[in-house]
Amino acid sequence: MKKQYLPTKICVVCQRPFAWRKKWAKVWNEVKYCSERCRRNKNNPNAKSS
Ligand SMILES: [Zn+2]
Repeated sequence: MKKQYLPTKICVVCQRPFAWRKKWAKVWNEVKYCSERCRRNKNNPNAKSS
């Protein structure tokens, strides 16, 4: 099996890069969060200051 290149984005909440996932195949352009957890935290992105 060949390694495939997976696009990545930076999560707007935790500011970490995350890789494309199959479940996002149709909505990748709209994906902003690395996980459901970050999606829920979107109103509170800087809860812990850096
Ligand atoms: Zn995140």
